[in-house]
Amino acid sequence: MKPRIKKISVLGSTGSIGVNTLKIAEQFPDRLKVVGLAAGRNLALLARQAKKFRPARIAVGDPALIPALRSKLKGKRVEILAGMEGLVSLARDPEADEIVLSVSGSIGLRPALAALRAGKQLALANKEALVMGGELLMKASRGLGDSLIPIDSEHSALFQLLEGKKPAEIRRLFLTASGGPFLHRSPRSLSRVTPEEALFHPVWKMGRKVSIDSATLMNKGLEVIEAHYLFRTEPERLKVLIHPQGRVHALLELKDGAVLGHLGIPDMRIPIAYALSYPERLPLRLPALSLPELKGLTFLEAEPRRFPALRLAYSALAAGGTMPAVLSIANENAVEAFLARRILFPRIVELVARVLDARKENPAAGIEAIAAAETWARRETEAIIHRWR
Ligand code: MG
Repeated sequence: MKPRIKKISVLGSTGSIGVNTLKIAEQFPDRLKVVGLAAGRNLALLARQAKKFRPARIAVGDPALIPALRSKLKGKRVEILAGMEGLVSLARDPEADEIVLSVSGSIGLRPALAALRAGKQLALANKEALVMGGELLMKASRGLGDSLIPIDSEHSALFQLLEGKKPAEIRRLFLTASGGPFLHRSPRSLSRVTPEEALFHPVWKMGRKVSIDSATLMNKGLEVIEAHYLFRTEPERLKVLIHPQGRVHALLELKDGAVLGHLGIPDMRIPIAYALSYPERLPLRLPALSLPELKGLTFLEAEPRRFPALRLAYSALAAGGTMPAVLSIANENAVEAFLARRILFPRIVELVARVLDARKENPAAGIEAIAAAETWARRETEAIIHRWR
């Protein structure tokens, strides 16, 4: 039997995950049809994508950009939406079966929730949504696989490794981290790091926010929190391994001592394709993993004591409530400030630590409490940057 064509909307279509998602859609037109696209400010690319895939609806980051986008799409029948309203409306679009959510940062939470509440499959690349509203999202979903599939490579790997396993069989989950571009640099030399150096990642080609997060290792901290919610695993059973070669994406340790690993070339099309075709697999045409190359693989357990960003993430997770949201927002603002050359690189993690320290209340993470924590954390981050200047 021929499989039914799945209708997908890609929110964050001009970013690295979005572009790779569309490459897969283009390769498998008998499996995937694009019905919606959303981007922030890259109108030229969004317009090209809209002409190629002919979605019924597209959205852009800001209503002020609509006229410019419309003029690029003159004569095309396409509805143009904008802002958060546009994202949420695409996320619950009755025409779409699956939503690929690849926007960057905290703006992902509301469309993620909207998609799950509308009964969509959600292919989730936006980790901030889970970090900020993990409980809410898991409650709104019908469970992993049924309505929520992670795209983050380590979590896709764990999702695949955990298939068919019973919770009682599982001892520990290992997430690997490349260690970023500064793994071997002395902490003192890092104050001179420029955004350009920090944006260069040794293994993965990624967007700006996640590249900086990889350089500080906050990315792995956010991923520990993400894994906690996705796989309902206690923090002490979630471990991070520094693995600079980036060929082993995750490991699963079972109670009899067996360790299962997920290996592959570092190419996001593998986890994206799995999220689009689950439980089936698509025949991707990618270079094979070279097994002889694996002889130099190394693994080093990343002690949270040695890596301040990891320590902060574990402590925000232990505190629970809105603390992970505060961590995520403070980090998002700190990264923006670094990219705008307003603070030095080592200040990113220091800023997050200060904001977490300053937080005196910690309500349960309902949608309003998260919004309030977000506003508070933004203000606090700015106030600290201001005092530093
Ligand atoms: Mg990842």
